[in-house]
Amino acid sequence: MTDNTQLRVAFETLGCKLNFSETSTYSRTLQGLGYQIVKPTQEADLYIINTCSVTEHSDKKCRNMIRRMSKKSPDAIIVVTGCYAQLKPSEILDIQGVNLVVGAQDKGKLVQMAHQLVLDRSKESKIISSCEIEDVNSFFSAYSSGERTRSFLKVQDGCDYHCAYCTVPLARGDSRNIPIAEIVKEAENIAADGIVEVVITGVNTGDFGKSTNESFLDLLKALNDVKGIERYRISSIEPNLLTPEIIDWISKGNKFLPHFHIPLQSGCDKILAKMRRRYNTEMFRSKIELIRAKIPDFFLGIDVIVGFPGESDEDFRTTYNFLESINPSFLHIFPYSRRANTPAAIMPDQVPEYIKNQRVAALSALSDKLHSDYCTSHKGKREYVLFESTQKDGKMFGYTRNYIRVERPYDPELIGKIVEVVV
Ligand code: SF4
Repeated sequence: MTDNTQLRVAFETLGCKLNFSETSTYSRTLQGLGYQIVKPTQEADLYIINTCSVTEHSDKKCRNMIRRMSKKSPDAIIVVTGCYAQLKPSEILDIQGVNLVVGAQDKGKLVQMAHQLVLDRSKESKIISSCEIEDVNSFFSAYSSGERTRSFLKVQDGCDYHCAYCTVPLARGDSRNIPIAEIVKEAENIAADGIVEVVITGVNTGDFGKSTNESFLDLLKALNDVKGIERYRISSIEPNLLTPEIIDWISKGNKFLPHFHIPLQSGCDKILAKMRRRYNTEMFRSKIELIRAKIPDFFLGIDVIVGFPGESDEDFRTTYNFLESINPSFLHIFPYSRRANTPAAIMPDQVPEYIKNQRVAALSALSDKLHSDYCTSHKGKREYVLFESTQKDGKMFGYTRNYIRVERPYDPELIGKIVEVVV
């Protein structure tokens, strides 16, 4: 480590888009302090890992990252934050090389604390900052920027639902948000950076408004008026919160794109009830039928968990058949992961790993077919594509309004531009 202008920081981000938006915000602030951003595989003065705790696999990944960074730069300050940090701070602090574990309440102070440790060369420090469960109700505003032509804007945090398998409410606290006016200002900052597409992100995004007595639809309408932002996507919305009013408004052809990502988790009502989800398959189907009636070309991504405790072969078949009948464009498939301190962890009839793997494989094959059919059905249609900066084998890539990935010969002039193409 030399003087301040030459300090280097590297980031690793696990998990959801919310984490990516938070990491991006740390990155902007540290760049403002003169840090150079380097890759996590390079030597650095400071490493920041933003963790997830949805599966045991992501916990393990985080521990391996810490060991790798510690080996690469033994004198570097290592800071860990995010859901795993919130849930198991002592376990993380015990890992050799970790200096600071930051809980949700202090995310807004993370950069300041980390920077001080770097300046003080406090490699011997071992600090846990605000990881008590009752501390997790502050709001850390964040949006992603940088290389992406699209920005992830955090509008909501936390969740009050307490689904039987989920640790997120324990790690991120109650549902909360900042007022619409403040979010609009963030969107204006994004527009000022020249970014034209925004993905609205939260833990339970559609629950927006609880802490400010506003509504999610009011937020969408306010964001729609922000000059410079031309397209919006909603990262994910619970089926019970996707109201006919929201569907109707999106169908009117404003800046919100025909792209829905909706968690189903199971297509079997018995399992949905055990999961403590707030809808049944009938309600789910009615929402999809309403979207289909109003927005025929829409892209539908669905989350599914397989191997939840008590899911029999017949229950899984019910889920499979339900998904086939719904005809989504893509499936995000997760094998159930047993997480400490959740009701599902102590439920009887845990499903063996090999059966979960078989069910993942069956749904992956279904998803591949559905996705291919969806894309093929749009062949030859005119669409608007936002091209991104990634270059591979002389090609560049972008997404249509309804989330079909398009490639064309690389042309730097088109990065960040919305271009009409024939798919
Ligand atoms: S809605 Fe359920 S699965 Fe989603 S974050 Fe809340 S508790 Fe977890």
